[in-house]
Amino acid sequence: MCGVYRDFLWIGNNSTHCFKASRTNLIFSFLTKKEGGCMNINELKRRVCECIDERKEELIEIGEKIFKNPELGYKEEKTAKLVKKNFEKLGIEYRDKLALTGVKGKIGTKAPNIAILGELDALICPDHPYANKKTGAAHACGHNAMIANLLGVCFGLVDSKVINSLDGSVTFFAVPAEEYIEIEFRKKLMEEGKIEFLGGKQELIRLGEFDDIDMAMMCHPTSNPNRVVYTNISMNGFIGKVVRYIGRASHAGGAPEKGINALNAAILGLQGINALRETFKDEDCIRVHPIITKGGEGVNVVPSDVRIEAYVRAKKFDALIETNKKVNKALEAGAMAIGANIEINDLSGYMPLVPNDTMGKVFSNNASEFLGKENVIGSKIHLTGSSDMGDVTQVIPGIHPLVGGFEGEPHSKEFKIVDKEMAYVIPAKIM
Ligand SMILES: [Zn+2]
Repeated sequence: MCGVYRDFLWIGNNSTHCFKASRTNLIFSFLTKKEGGCMNINELKRRVCECIDERKEELIEIGEKIFKNPELGYKEEKTAKLVKKNFEKLGIEYRDKLALTGVKGKIGTKAPNIAILGELDALICPDHPYANKKTGAAHACGHNAMIANLLGVCFGLVDSKVINSLDGSVTFFAVPAEEYIEIEFRKKLMEEGKIEFLGGKQELIRLGEFDDIDMAMMCHPTSNPNRVVYTNISMNGFIGKVVRYIGRASHAGGAPEKGINALNAAILGLQGINALRETFKDEDCIRVHPIITKGGEGVNVVPSDVRIEAYVRAKKFDALIETNKKVNKALEAGAMAIGANIEINDLSGYMPLVPNDTMGKVFSNNASEFLGKENVIGSKIHLTGSSDMGDVTQVIPGIHPLVGGFEGEPHSKEFKIVDKEMAYVIPAKIM
């Protein structure tokens, strides 16, 4: 998969996937035995949901435990252990340490194989009330709920023994490092040969861990306290960027003419990007958001080493590549004007997320049974953020619906769960 995946990243991909399904409920639509006196689909679903409800309190406890023990990407040892412990209790065979911390369990042997994904990682939000004091990690994006959702589906299918009536298999995949952070740490992992990609799902695709999976889904929390779901979610892709302007130091007061001011070069580069914004097309949903991570050494020295990190995001792959080229030119122009040197390091970010229509419709129908039609929003919604689920949807069919039960701005200290049943339990029943 490795080489093919790189092609996906740098050349783009127009693969189309076609699945036909009309019945409500995702797993059941794709996996119910087509012949041979099996039980009625609604009866099977009822039994699975009963089993999930029986373990409602346990699922909430699991979700809360992860919430209070947040871990950052590629370091999610405790959370992975919790997943493994539950797989063992259920007798689910699994493999672990995939892309360092990923855990992949499977029930059934037949095709098709549907994967339920749950992200193990937290993000850095040190002022969050439950942040880890040492690492600043906090579940300010609600990934803890995804793991509860994943285990909820496990409990339902295994406890009810309904898995034996399905004509296919289900993979439960706890995946690491969705948040694209701690770039220096991850680059070190790359240098050590431990990973090749900064995002967990990307790395798992490279390792071939999605090769046996036919389609994948996961539910992502959204800031809406109500029992609602948004089922047709697409997202921007992005390219990450680390930039270094190299000038020449000299006395800032006594002899600035002997120096080359790397900060001035960087500021011109950033102004160049801003001047380009009027050329961005609305339909491309472009976002370019650089930050200066190092502005100089001391105020009395002409800055000689200035660093910038940036994301370039866009809805479609072509626009992403095109905008990235323009942004790099603008950054280079800043260096040229001042006579500084520049190093631009483009990092493979995430691919645009393109949801599979059929899966989205099936998910919507099933969600309506639990939440009522009026609370299932199936209209197309494009988010200008990004996820490595985008990479998955470029390789196999997948969906990334948003689920309510949460409040506050995501990635901030205000983000919290306000409806535990909606956050931890109901998405498991919908899937
Ligand atoms: Zn997230």
